[in-house]
Amino acid sequence: MAPDPTADAPARRPNVVLINCDDLGYGDLGCYGSTRNQTPALDALAAEGLRFDSFYMASPVCSPSRGALLTGCYPPRIGFGSFDGLPVLFPGQGLGLPPSEISLGALLGSAGYRTQMIGKWHCGDQPAFLPTNHGFDHYLGLPYSNDMGRQAPMAEGPFAPPPGAEPRYLPPLPLLLDHDVIEQQPDQASLTERYVTEAVRFLRDCGDDPFFLYLAHLYVHVPIYVQERFARQSANGPYGAAVASIDWATAVLVHELRSLGLEDDTIVIFTSDNGSRGIDGGSNQPLRGAKTTTWEGGMRVPCIVRWPGHVAPGRTTDEVATAMDLYPTLAAACGATLPDDRTIDGCDITALLEDPEATSPHEAFLYYWMDDLEAVRVGRWKLHLAKHGSVRRELYDLEEDPGEAHDVLAAHPDVEAAIEVHVEAARRSLGDARTGRAGEDRRPVGRVPDPVPLTTYDPEHPYYLAEYDLTDRG
Ligand code: MG
Repeated sequence: MAPDPTADAPARRPNVVLINCDDLGYGDLGCYGSTRNQTPALDALAAEGLRFDSFYMASPVCSPSRGALLTGCYPPRIGFGSFDGLPVLFPGQGLGLPPSEISLGALLGSAGYRTQMIGKWHCGDQPAFLPTNHGFDHYLGLPYSNDMGRQAPMAEGPFAPPPGAEPRYLPPLPLLLDHDVIEQQPDQASLTERYVTEAVRFLRDCGDDPFFLYLAHLYVHVPIYVQERFARQSANGPYGAAVASIDWATAVLVHELRSLGLEDDTIVIFTSDNGSRGIDGGSNQPLRGAKTTTWEGGMRVPCIVRWPGHVAPGRTTDEVATAMDLYPTLAAACGATLPDDRTIDGCDITALLEDPEATSPHEAFLYYWMDDLEAVRVGRWKLHLAKHGSVRRELYDLEEDPGEAHDVLAAHPDVEAAIEVHVEAARRSLGDARTGRAGEDRRPVGRVPDPVPLTTYDPEHPYYLAEYDLTDRG
């Protein structure tokens, strides 16, 4: 009998498509209870995979959330708690994800994966910090938020110029191809389609090579410019149109994977970097709070994982999982070797994906706002410690009360004491600026001298839009 040439061959390694949205809330998808937004493709993805109901990002704002996802570490662990006093990175700042950190792109690249990043990066805009210097073969996208370009100034609110003062403009919004600015102030309504085109090109290009696609949408971060068709069809204004565009993009990618015969060999993950602002059509229902807060609505986000043959269709789980878990979990699935010279906070959640009886590997989940430890979840219980610098000690039973409406601290001193052990462990390791704790196991943020913005306004430049006319910022 002829030897079977495949007998000793390793199992085919899965491809990975990781879709991350910007400010999409827990209650914004049909499969999470939205009745305002139409999300047939994402609902189908959930029906074919696993919907996480207690999935957390490690921060309620963009840069630290994305840094944590890419490194498997809490933001303060990698110097991403505070950016010289700011909660997120701004254009031309000399800070970013240091070259010493091994991003998910670099991790899977080291295992032989072809890697492509598309969309919002927000982990530093100086050359050393860009995706192509963090293990991604190629990049197309905005290096930070879509409201960080030249935009009509707000008449009032935190971003409005003081009375009598000239408005302060940010540099023109750059669109990068690899590390080059290929366009300034692009038509934002066109970007999702361009991102999808680039993603399809990448999928087709990979042939038989395993690949990792990280697609980070600009939606639903304000200001929302969206394709005309979705604007026309939306029953929830520009927000619903942006959600529809995300859903459409997902449908195209799933269709493409099917056409290429890769549907069964590809892990598709869909999530969001932080909760919705909870205004302008967004929803974190039934959770309390919104983006920038450590209430559940700021950090608990949608997450769907579809992986045929490994994840049974139509499952849901309420076990705690986090974006940091993707790092060790994908390393295991893809045959990459985790670094052993540093602390990684994420846990391998392969068991949660494959076994309906599995329980969360997390003893505790930490809610940091910048470098302040604001809350800790242990099992069903969440102890709040502070909110934006002020003491706020409350206890909620998230199983009975996911909306954090009924403080039960007085009735459960034993639970409070048990969680305090985790509070102290977190402060010792990661620090807690509010209580003066520095943390013993923190790695420094990347820092370059003399940073320069990627663009400078030039009145002679033929911008498609020299100034975006919507004033929303967030
Ligand atoms: Mg965001």
